[in-house]
Amino acid sequence: MQYKLGVLKGDDIGLEVVPAAVKVMKESLANFPEVDVEWVDLPIGHTAYVESGETFPQETQDKLKELTGWILGPIGHMAYPKDDPKAINPHPIIRKVFDLHSNVRPSRSFDNVQSIHKDVDLVVVRENNEGFQPDRNMFAGTGEFMPNPDLAMSVRVISRRNSTAVAESAFELAMQRRKKVTAIHKDTVYKLGCGLFVECCRNVAKNYPEVEFDELIVDSAAAALVMKPQKFDVLVTTNMFGDILSDLTSGLVGGLGMAPGLSIGSEYSMAQATHGSAPDIAGKQLANPYAMILSGKMLLEWLAIKYDDQAMLQAAQAIEKAVSEVIIKGIMTPDMGGSATTEEMTEAICNQLSKKI
Ligand code: ATP
Ligand code: MG
Repeated sequence: MQYKLGVLKGDDIGLEVVPAAVKVMKESLANFPEVDVEWVDLPIGHTAYVESGETFPQETQDKLKELTGWILGPIGHMAYPKDDPKAINPHPIIRKVFDLHSNVRPSRSFDNVQSIHKDVDLVVVRENNEGFQPDRNMFAGTGEFMPNPDLAMSVRVISRRNSTAVAESAFELAMQRRKKVTAIHKDTVYKLGCGLFVECCRNVAKNYPEVEFDELIVDSAAAALVMKPQKFDVLVTTNMFGDILSDLTSGLVGGLGMAPGLSIGSEYSMAQATHGSAPDIAGKQLANPYAMILSGKMLLEWLAIKYDDQAMLQAAQAIEKAVSEVIIKGIMTPDMGGSATTEEMTEAICNQLSKKI
């Protein structure tokens, strides 16, 4: 298998944390020379706009189709002219075009990282293309419109197809973990939308008798996550609830710098940390590379499972182990309670990986 992996740095802290993640991935893969990876740099975001007048150049759009997967940095949205059609946010388009229906967002606590809770190890699996981002062909923009200047309406789309796909992603993940899935919804209010979503989850649950399945209303889930996050393993939910709850769970374990993510479909996979471009700390070596490095690790793990590649799996697992060891040593960025720069933390992880296993 020859893997072709894209590197799309994006903007602001993306220019620091994406190269950090790629460096770590390459360092780990160097221990497995049988894994053949070609890396392809592709421009995107504000940085690309300044260079070529487009945030999502056609060349980038075409090349993505030839890749096995890619790592994508955050897109800064401050400086774009609002009315320029070439200054678009590429994220929703990529998720849609490549049918990346599930967004997997783990939250894991470390004893010596400042956080509200310890012993947290859970994953939010969020539907990625519906809810507040309905089909762009069906509804203009985000599915919102104003019938008159005093009334705004938002259309929420939930389909059987995507609800089933995201539930399957969650149950597959649970099989590799502690075998528990909790579906989060609000079918007391959204009887049709959430009703359909949870019906799909129940149907998928029947195919996984060894996985414990339960359901929770989103407001109760928010309270339970703050009070007793340790009781959760995999949570599966719709787009907007997942957006909010996954930021909440990152807050439980130390903040956005601790929140990796992977968007997956049946063919493609995209590593993308939960955080945005954080312009306030960009260029200062303050960005926590953990989220992006672990997103890269999730990409390698997904590829390993898809292509049944044991060496790739070991390369992925070695990254997680090295990161944990560096955190235990206390080499971490200020948001985690340490004093290391982005580069120092990255370098320490690479050094850990280059000690042959
Ligand atoms: P977006 O709308 O693009 O999601 P946002 O408004 O949610 O952006 P972020 O860019 O995600 O905001 O960042 C919010 C704050 O969290 C930042 O200002 C920064 O202080 C902190 N932050 C985010 N990512 C990191 C990181 N990797 N390391 C350290 N701090 C971070
Ligand atoms: Mg955000």
